[in-house]
Amino acid sequence: MAQYQHIESALIHGGIYGDKTTGAVNVPIYQTSTYEQQGLGQNTGWEYSRTGNPTRAALEALIAELEGGTAGFAFASGLAAITTVLSLFRSGDKILISSNVYGGTFRLLDQVFQQFGIGYAIADTTNLAAFEAAITPEVRAVLVESPANPLLTVTDLAAVSEIAHRHGLLSIVDNTFMTPYLQRPLELGADIVVHSATKYLGGHSDLIAGLAAVRDSALAARLAFLQNAAGAVLGPFDSFLLIRGIKTLGVRMDRHVENAEKAAAFLRNHSAVKKVYYPGLPDAQGYEINRRQAKNGGAMISFELDEKHEIRQFFSSLKLIALAESLGGVESLVCHPATMTHASIPRKIREAVGITDGLIRLSIGIENAEDLLADLEQAITESEVR
Ligand SMILES: *Cc1c(COP(=O)(O)O)cnc(C)c1O
Repeated sequence: MAQYQHIESALIHGGIYGDKTTGAVNVPIYQTSTYEQQGLGQNTGWEYSRTGNPTRAALEALIAELEGGTAGFAFASGLAAITTVLSLFRSGDKILISSNVYGGTFRLLDQVFQQFGIGYAIADTTNLAAFEAAITPEVRAVLVESPANPLLTVTDLAAVSEIAHRHGLLSIVDNTFMTPYLQRPLELGADIVVHSATKYLGGHSDLIAGLAAVRDSALAARLAFLQNAAGAVLGPFDSFLLIRGIKTLGVRMDRHVENAEKAAAFLRNHSAVKKVYYPGLPDAQGYEINRRQAKNGGAMISFELDEKHEIRQFFSSLKLIALAESLGGVESLVCHPATMTHASIPRKIREAVGITDGLIRLSIGIENAEDLLADLEQAITESEVR
């Protein structure tokens, strides 16, 4: 029986806590590939570390508990998690993806899985009627992000899962931007939740990892089989780092969001800013839905400067906020989706969904908010066309 009621405690005490043999408060790093067997057909329950490793198992139990699932899986990257989940499907099947899906997920479907006959279709999942109309007989699953990358569009996860189930589809949610601290898709009806744990869960920009969690035991068994069969597992040391990162997720997210709310308000009130995308702003697309399904608006913000500002200059003028791919680390990062994270999406598709060349995406870190706003202000001033 868990000795706690709240997720802040589960982040620290959830999954498998400490080490029974020594009393160590942290799960040891079991840096081993194999395990000695007592005799033929006799073993300790551990046979080979691709199949199972105690450090990874502790992390897998933790993500299952945090997401409200029954089984968790740890992978070498977010895309390895998504690859393994997509391996549930077969030639002739189609995956319906939301129009603002992560660029790497799109590339994986478009340039890898399509070669094996697993196709995809794109639907605007913020429009439930359009989403339902896009379900053809070949569609076997829907894969959505909410808020989605990089326009922070909100999809009603409970409604999409309900429609998916009515049509016999699996509902898969990439919960990278929110983390279970802010949003738990399995509790909203999703069948599979996936993460790039590289981002907020790790939280320190020091590892690449992916996670998945499910509720259904048959689905869990199939994923366990695929995880072992394909072998894109997370190593023991990175599993330890990720457990360590997750312990502070609550305090980090609180500060990320506090800073992001200040930055969104600052950008919204700035005369040089044409548009701000942040699900925590009351007039944002999907604000009410997000409020219902998530704790708050998260810490990702996208915005566009007006024509009197030059974005190339804006990027090079930032001093504290670093220009880099990725997100969710303690340090604030800025990126240019059109040429960085979403460059693998053809320009025509990109522009049709609103990822313009002027779009700027911020991952708000946990620095002092005044320092962040001052950096944005000075870079906006520097980027003014003279
Ligand atoms: C980064 C990211 C991924 C890919 O994860 P990796 O750990 O880089 O493989 C998938 N989905 C989203 C939403 C991401 O931000």
